[in-house]
Amino acid sequence: MRRGRIDLHIHSTASDGVLTPREIVHRAVVLGLAVIALTDHDTTSGIQEAADAAASTDLTVIPGVEINSEGPWGDLHLLGFYVAPDSPLLTRRLASLQQARLHRAQGMVEKLAGLGMALEWDEVQGLARGQSVGRPHIARALLQRGYVDSVQEAFDRYIGLGGPAYVPRFRLSPLEAIETIHAAGGAAVLAHPAHSSVDEPFIRDLVALGLDGLEVYYPAHSPEEVGFLLALCERYHLLRTGGSDFHGPRSGEGGEMGSVFVPFECVEHLHQAAEAY
Ligand code: AMP
Ligand code: FE
Ligand code: FE
Ligand code: ZN
Repeated sequence: MRRGRIDLHIHSTASDGVLTPREIVHRAVVLGLAVIALTDHDTTSGIQEAADAAASTDLTVIPGVEINSEGPWGDLHLLGFYVAPDSPLLTRRLASLQQARLHRAQGMVEKLAGLGMALEWDEVQGLARGQSVGRPHIARALLQRGYVDSVQEAFDRYIGLGGPAYVPRFRLSPLEAIETIHAAGGAAVLAHPAHSSVDEPFIRDLVALGLDGLEVYYPAHSPEEVGFLLALCERYHLLRTGGSDFHGPRSGEGGEMGSVFVPFECVEHLHQAAEAY
């Protein structure tokens, strides 16, 4: 593993990113990054393509995943690093999450039709080339049809939480998500903790469930939040990770690849920890 800049949170077309895994690798190489993790929502289907593309370069690609879960505290995203894509439990659980995503997206298309915004299912599916169909694909379809002027507007007016076309979807519990990541040989890290208004008792509960780390470095985290999360990592002996949550250039979501400073030692500690699973 070459030392250099790292980015441990990236989405491709396997879920709701706009670049293919191959294009992600190309961009990381052009930007001079040393290590990236591909962390698509509820799927590992982009990992092989990324690994193949990186094989002839000195970029390291960590196989990852971002599993959406829901606890008594609301929506929680758990990143899994160094997961084995062929793990039986991981494969089974991700397949049911993808199935649930599909039904839910169809439900939202129906609600939108009821609101006078007809979309063909093929349009949504054409935008969701990968395995995990999500709200960003619906937002992009609305944009293509001219029903909205931006992806953000689609979320704000229609498909954001509580919006008139919003449909909740099935999620794993945090314990199930952590177990699934561990069963696949990965380390489980809470993504963008500041989004989930994390406090200390909450982190203590997750640590009791097996949480291995916190995503400390993230575009939307203020210096105060980073300081708070670092203190929690120290107190509970947690790993630190960080990344941009890149979804593509001008995707309106996450930062540019490599734009968040993440100390290189984070990836060394992560690698050591994952070897224990
Ligand atoms: P889903 O997993 O289908 O519920 O969609 C959630 C995804 O939508 C997140 O991973 C983000 O990529 C994106 N997203 C969530 N909220 C917004 C927002 N307000 N504006 C743009 N994208 C969003
Ligand atoms: Fe996303
Ligand atoms: Fe997330
Ligand atoms: Zn993400």
